[in-house]
Amino acid sequence: MANSLLELENLSVKIGTKSILHDINLEMKSGETHVLMGPNGAGKSTLGYTLMGSPNYETTSGKIIFDGNDITEESADKRAKAGLFLSFQDPLEVPGISLESFIRASMQQVTGEKVKLMAFQKSLEKAMDILHMNHSYASRDLNVGFSGGEKKKSEILQLLMLKPKLAILDETDSGLDVDAVRTVSEGIREYQNTMHGALLVITHSTRILESLHVDYTHVMVKGKIVHTGDGSLVKEINENGFEQFIPEEIKEAERKEKQLAAAKAAMEKVKALNANDFGGGL
Ligand code: ADP
Ligand code: MG
Repeated sequence: MANSLLELENLSVKIGTKSILHDINLEMKSGETHVLMGPNGAGKSTLGYTLMGSPNYETTSGKIIFDGNDITEESADKRAKAGLFLSFQDPLEVPGISLESFIRASMQQVTGEKVKLMAFQKSLEKAMDILHMNHSYASRDLNVGFSGGEKKKSEILQLLMLKPKLAILDETDSGLDVDAVRTVSEGIREYQNTMHGALLVITHSTRILESLHVDYTHVMVKGKIVHTGDGSLVKEINENGFEQFIPEEIKEAERKEKQLAAAKAAMEKVKALNANDFGGGL
């Protein structure tokens, strides 16, 4: 498949001893926008971190093919060089490094070339204008004291400057007010339209997607992709929830888990009561 940008083949992942993702299959082509939705704890962020090569995430089976190369065992910096980008759900604050020097250093690392200061500053300011960011933010310490919305804008600024082939945006819209979502969304659209970048957007809402064209929507439940549909699925999920896509066997396992937890809690309570009785008597 020549024009596949990303192919996940039966990808399974664990964190420590805990299996999180099970047999994930996904194919994305250049320039496509895919949305990944699912309940909390489904494994969406885990997929993002795994794709970026974060060391705590162990791929136990399957393959990640990016731009024709098997990157399953590649380090995070090689993946970034290959054109992968992840916007964190909770962007880190880095005292002592300014936003602009961080972005310039990242660009130099990704391209392997020196980035000339004047041209860099010009394009940085242009990107900041798209995101309605005051230019003074360029010299501030990375994300330090930034509001939630400003942190997310700083992530999208990195996206616009680094121009990756595939950007994974992990809940870039969560916790933002309506105006900030619109601005961030404009930045993403700029990346989509002028850089023809592919996107994997992890989100809980339709707001960030309103001005974006969505090709596919995937629903993840308990570490599995249980359903894939087109862009209209996002609206459907927002109106009717995930329930309809949860397979019967997962619901059954959940019921059993809940029963077991309730039984355990009841046992603990009985034990505590007994202990109190004995404690009182001694
Ligand atoms: P989502 O982003 O869909 O809300 P996550 O990928 O964050 O879900 O989490 C998926 C599962 O992995 C959850 O059960 C969570 O508790 C578990 N998990 C996430 N990070 C860790 C970690 N560092 N150590 C152990 N378990 C983790
Ligand atoms: Mg998450």
